[in-house]
Amino acid sequence: MTPEKYESLLQKLDQEENLSWAEIVAIIATPCPELDQKLFSLADRKREKYVGEEIHLRGIIEFSNYCRKNCLYCGLRRDNSTLPRYRMKPAEIIEVAQKIVDLGIPTVVLQSGEDLAYPTDLLAEIVFQVKKIGAAVTLSIGERDREDYLSLYQAGADRFLLKQETFDRNLFDQIHSDDNYDFRLACQKILQEIGFQTGSGNMVGLPGQKAKALALDIKKFQEWNFDMIGIGPFIPHPKTPLGKHQPDSYQQLILTLKVLALTRILTKNSHLPATTALGVLSAKGRETALRCGANVIMPDFTPIKYQTSYNIYPGKSSFEEGEYRLAQARAMIKRLGRKETNHPGHSLKRHPHLNPLPRRERKF
Ligand code: SAM
Ligand code: SF4
Repeated sequence: MTPEKYESLLQKLDQEENLSWAEIVAIIATPCPELDQKLFSLADRKREKYVGEEIHLRGIIEFSNYCRKNCLYCGLRRDNSTLPRYRMKPAEIIEVAQKIVDLGIPTVVLQSGEDLAYPTDLLAEIVFQVKKIGAAVTLSIGERDREDYLSLYQAGADRFLLKQETFDRNLFDQIHSDDNYDFRLACQKILQEIGFQTGSGNMVGLPGQKAKALALDIKKFQEWNFDMIGIGPFIPHPKTPLGKHQPDSYQQLILTLKVLALTRILTKNSHLPATTALGVLSAKGRETALRCGANVIMPDFTPIKYQTSYNIYPGKSSFEEGEYRLAQARAMIKRLGRKETNHPGHSLKRHPHLNPLPRRERKF
């Protein structure tokens, strides 16, 4: 694409806040530092218009690294026998959640591998207790069946993050030996029907991933009207089948930021985190993301003794206490001249077609 054409697509993006799949492919496939910067500035303006200056903090607890799945990219995959495994006890999880709330963070994210050793009733009880402390709860625990999701919702869980990782069916099949594209999307549909605020997302820079696949991801994020979308670079883990892939980290950073910026403009008011993986790719990665459309930071509160074992990709753990990460996040917000919220930062979307199921009183 010529720079003139790129420039005209930026004007169209500004006016119509929409592009076709083919137009997005053209932008993603055209490297032009000057116009890429214009795209980032436009995304920053649209962020201001649709979600304002507020940045939402979500404290994440990675409570188990056991996983029954074998995703080809992830360090927690079942076949990674070199990884020491851990499970946090419910009381330990609730203690950390209390600390997060005491530090003024209104949302607790509970994340794990797909670990069925936590039966749904137990997870529901943990959710219920964390809600009692006063936090909004996001779950990121993978695929379960409808009854499980419903129990978790009835226990009070507000949001569920289940990234599709890629909406390109062939690529999805290549990087998942034991997952099913349609099943994962069906889970997403169930979560939306139940009434969860739902999140998806992708990884950028996967082996064989083309501009066409990334443009498809962006169109799908828009079509599904997701409340939150996590966009992060793929970082190869040496103990996984995709560990030998060597992306150029600068190109990957720009590409990830372009996908993020386009997603902001097309989805308007979705919540978009400045992902930890971007911070691993580049020291200023998260701060840059917050200038290119992102409006969420998720400081990690997993106790230090477990952090090295939640080794999804190299460089993720830095042996820092949650308090230190929180201080870094708050300093970042200050540098950017933005505002930290003191409310849960629920979805700004309206889902008129959905009729959330009522929550029942639970007694444990
Ligand atoms: N097991 C749950 C699931 O898969 O939905 C949640 C935990 S999983 C570790 C959380 C996210 O880690 C995934 O959605 C994926 O995007 C990300 N991830 C895994 N391996 C990665 C890698 N090598 N580079 C970047 N992100 C990765
Ligand atoms: Fe398990 Fe999630 Fe990692 Fe896949 S991405 S191996 S489901 S933790």
